[in-house]
Amino acid sequence: MKLAIMGGTFNPVHIGHLVCAEEAVSQYGLDRVLFMPTGLPPHKEIQNGAGPEDRYRMCVLAIGGNPRFEVSRYEIDKQQVSYTVNTVRHFRRQMPEAELYFITGADAVLEILEWKDPQDLLMMATLIAATRPGYPLDKISGSLSRFLTENRVKIMEIPGIGVSSTMIRRRVSERMSIRYLVPEGIRQYINKEGLYRQE
Ligand code: NAP
Repeated sequence: MKLAIMGGTFNPVHIGHLVCAEEAVSQYGLDRVLFMPTGLPPHKEIQNGAGPEDRYRMCVLAIGGNPRFEVSRYEIDKQQVSYTVNTVRHFRRQMPEAELYFITGADAVLEILEWKDPQDLLMMATLIAATRPGYPLDKISGSLSRFLTENRVKIMEIPGIGVSSTMIRRRVSERMSIRYLVPEGIRQYINKEGLYRQE
C-alpha cells in the first residue's frame, strides 16, 4: 500500500491541488491520497482565511467521486501545532506496512530544514515537492540536493495549472469569477458562506 499524505492549508482547495494529487497517483503509483488540511500551522497564522471546519468541508466536497482520495481530520482535531513529523509518525504507527509519501508545495519543502525533526520525517516518508509550471527548479535542487540525490525528496511538476489559493481569495474579494478554477461545489460553498469577501 502506497499512501500519500497531502498537506496544506487548503484555503481554499482548488483544481491545482486536485490535479497535483492525481498526478502523484499516476507518477508514483499511489493507492491512496489523504488530504490533510493543517490545523494550527507551526510557522504562521492563517490570515484572511476560512476556519478549519470550512477548509475541511471544502476538501470533502472537492474530492467527491475519486475513490483514491480521502480527507483526514487528524491535524484539525488535534488542537495542537501541526508538525508534519508528528502526523507522519501517527500514520506510520497506524499502518506500519505502508510506503508513506508526503506531498506539498515546493515553496514549503524549501524550508524543510527548519521544520521539526526533518531527518526523522525523511526516514519515514518520501517528500514530493509539487511545482507549478515555470517554477525555478534550481531553487530546489540547490538547497535540497542531498535529499534529491538520496531520493528522499522528489520534484513533481503539475501540468499546466497556474491557480493558487491566494489568487482564488483575491478574485473573490474583487468580485471576479472563480468558476472552473475551483470545483463547482467549492464555488457554491464560498458564495453561500460568504468566505474571502474581504482581502
Ligand atoms: P501553504 O501555505 O498551504 O502552501 C505553501 C505553498 O505550497 C503555496 O504556494 C501553496 O499553494 C502550495 N501548496 C500547498 N499545499 C500544496 C499541495 N498539497 N499541492 C500543491 N501545492 C501546494 O502551506 P504551508 O503552510 O507552507 O505548509 C504546507 C505543508 O507543510 C502543511 O502540511 C504544513 O503543515 C507543512 N509544514 C510543516 C512544518 C513543520 O512540520 N514544522 C513547517 C511548515 C510547513 P496554494 O496556496 O495554492 O495552496
